[in-house]
Amino acid sequence: MIAANIQKINQEIGNKTRLIAVSKTKPAELVLEAYNANQRIFGENKVQEMLANYESLPKDIEWHLIGHLQSNKVKYIAPFVSMIHSVDSLKLLMSIEKEAAKCNRIIPCLLQIFIAKEETKFGLNRSELYEILDQLKLNPLPHIQICGLMGMASNTNDENQIRNEFSGLNLLFNEVKSAYFNEIPSFCELSMGMSHDYLIAVEEGSTLIRVGSLIFGTR
Ligand SMILES: *Cc1c(COP(=O)(O)O)cnc(C)c1O
Repeated sequence: MIAANIQKINQEIGNKTRLIAVSKTKPAELVLEAYNANQRIFGENKVQEMLANYESLPKDIEWHLIGHLQSNKVKYIAPFVSMIHSVDSLKLLMSIEKEAAKCNRIIPCLLQIFIAKEETKFGLNRSELYEILDQLKLNPLPHIQICGLMGMASNTNDENQIRNEFSGLNLLFNEVKSAYFNEIPSFCELSMGMSHDYLIAVEEGSTLIRVGSLIFGTR
């Protein structure tokens, strides 16, 4: 089942977009089943679960942190995390910088942008985003690599709304790239799209989709 689900999604998204299998709350056996189907990128939204899975599963897995991250928990994942998608404050970036430096690593990060209509989702608004980018320009953080933006669309069945939110994020990505990351090829990731909206996200330029329930079943 899991292998077939992964194969189907990979065929649909083509080779410009990578699939992150969101394994949160699922037992390690199921993660291993996906691993055996050649899946190598996994997403977790909780530090403790990611750490437990990292310790018990093969070491060539890329672990992506996709959920809200508290500054005081960065130290647990800094030694191995492949990408942090959910950076939503300068304070968090400073903490990632400090812990990455201790590990002698450069940690790839995405800035999470608030694009949904709901109040419940995390993320930066436009002016907060530019404030952080201006700060980073003044005071570069050598152990952080800003690789792009992440966003979650509204939880709605209105496809037009979802499409508008994703295309708005893509526009913002291009704006930020030309203003701050021109000629910096590592600023290239747009993390958007989940089980119910990844096809729209891919059409709107997603490079990383985060899919859980469609691979592993409902939580
Ligand atoms: C849980 C989660 C996903 C995956 O959600 P599904 O609907 O199960 O595909 C994607 N992104 C984030 C940030 C999540 O927390």
